Amino acid sequence: MLNLKGKTAVVTGGSRGIGEAIAYKFASEGVNIAVVYGGNAQAAEKVCGKCAEEYGVKAIPYQCDVSKFDVVKETVAKIKSDFGSAQILVNNAGITRDGLVAMMKEEDFDATLNTNLKGAFNMIRHMTGVFLRAKEGCIINITSVAGIMGNAGQSNYAASKAGLIGLTKSVAKELAPRGIRCNAVAPGFIKTDMTEAQTDNPLLSMIPLGEMGKPEDIAEAVAYLASAGYVTGEVLRVDGGIAM
Ligand code: NAP
Repeated sequence: MLNLKGKTAVVTGGSRGIGEAIAYKFASEGVNIAVVYGGNAQAAEKVCGKCAEEYGVKAIPYQCDVSKFDVVKETVAKIKSDFGSAQILVNNAGITRDGLVAMMKEEDFDATLNTNLKGAFNMIRHMTGVFLRAKEGCIINITSVAGIMGNAGQSNYAASKAGLIGLTKSVAKELAPRGIRCNAVAPGFIKTDMTEAQTDNPLLSMIPLGEMGKPEDIAEAVAYLASAGYVTGEVLRVDGGIAM
């Protein structure tokens, strides 16, 4: 056990893929869960149902577009009213709008930056007050090896994920004196809906550990960072070695 029992975690994009696995991992450790999702209410309700039934924790879904500053503000207020407080924030919601830079539509660049990077800022901006009142807080941002290495065809996505690393380190420095930690996890290729079309990507043959990762691999790293009281400003690669 990781000594997280009784805490509350807000997991964005907690309705599917990596976020779903993070929600179950926390729930299995006795952590209450606020599942923030974009559009798929059924999936979010299913995750919350499993957290409550299998692990006996409180779990509530919140429909919220993380890219919208005021919507996030209202959602954080609802979470605070429902749970009283929260001590963990996982910024996991993310999208891809891939394309070559010479042909990329402005709206695809903006949508990716607004969800992946500004979404994390919006959540941190509004959750920080909750953490300061709780005198405790831990933020984990889900970046990507694309933000470390770059990736042809993903200039918007890689820029958003590289930005998330700068955000992580700056927030870590700013909030460390208040006892609030901020770290990032950088997944490689993980089997989810997002990578469904990637099964014949030639980059897969370059993974030293020889296979794609599972959402649970990322969830384990997130749970470790949530409990690692002396770790802040770190970017933990969980990528089968592809970005070493
Ligand atoms: P996924 O299966 O496509 O799930 C994405 C999640 O984000 C869904 O729960 C979705 O909710 C939510 N979401 C999307 N836009 C949102 C918005 N504007 N507001 C609130 N929620 C929103 O993705 P995944 O593969 O699990 O990826 C999770 C995170 O890991 C992402 O940040 C991704 O960039 C990162 N990552 C993934 C991989 C990989 O190989 N899979 C590798 C590196 C990094 P709805 O379904 O309700 O829309």
